[in-house]
Amino acid sequence: SSIRKAEFIKSSTQIDDCPPDKLPEFALIGRSNVGKSSLINTLTRNDKLAKISKEPGMTKFINHYLINDCWYLVDLPGYGFAKAGKSSKEEWLTFTKDFFIKRENLVSVLLLIDSSVPPQEVDKDCANWLAECKVPFCIVFTKIDNRKKEMPANAQNIRAFKQLMSEEWEELPRCFETSSRTGAGRSELLGYVASLREL
Ligand code: GDP
Repeated sequence: SSIRKAEFIKSSTQIDDCPPDKLPEFALIGRSNVGKSSLINTLTRNDKLAKISKEPGMTKFINHYLINDCWYLVDLPGYGFAKAGKSSKEEWLTFTKDFFIKRENLVSVLLLIDSSVPPQEVDKDCANWLAECKVPFCIVFTKIDNRKKEMPANAQNIRAFKQLMSEEWEELPRCFETSSRTGAGRSELLGYVASLREL
């Protein structure tokens, strides 16, 4: 489950512009600032990869990264429903659902959740949204190294989020705890990808 090669393929503004081949895809989503670019760089051990395609303001890009010439890591537009208006939330919902429907080779979504902040309603909404769309997904808690003084510890935030989910869910999705600073959780997450690719 190691990454020998990672290359940026393209940024697409429309789902129809995504690479036409049928390689397995693993798509990352999360609130902006959750640590998505950092995680891509950490997973691929390439400090510059996610920056290549990063243009502030262009939130609608779908970025495809080809890994080991045989699967894609896909960076989907981030969300932040709290600040965004209703129409942009609707737009995001339509856009991602369309992606889930059209990309038949989508194997799993990796939902990133910032462990340095207490549970956010929007993250729970997103988990419910994925379940509604019947998309297989796992939860990736990010920044487990990050302990701001006044905030509850990360472990407590993670526990609180899981608690919140289990109030509505019978079974929780697979959860990973990661840090792009320390590399924690990297091999576990790559192991998850590898196990699903072999199915
Ligand atoms: P994105 O907007 O989701 O792509 O998030 P970025 O990867 O750009 O990261 C947002 C901010 O969080 C940056 O200031 C990063 O340095 C910080 N960050 C990302 N990952 C980690 C992590 O694992 N630990 C800590 N402490 N900070 C992180």
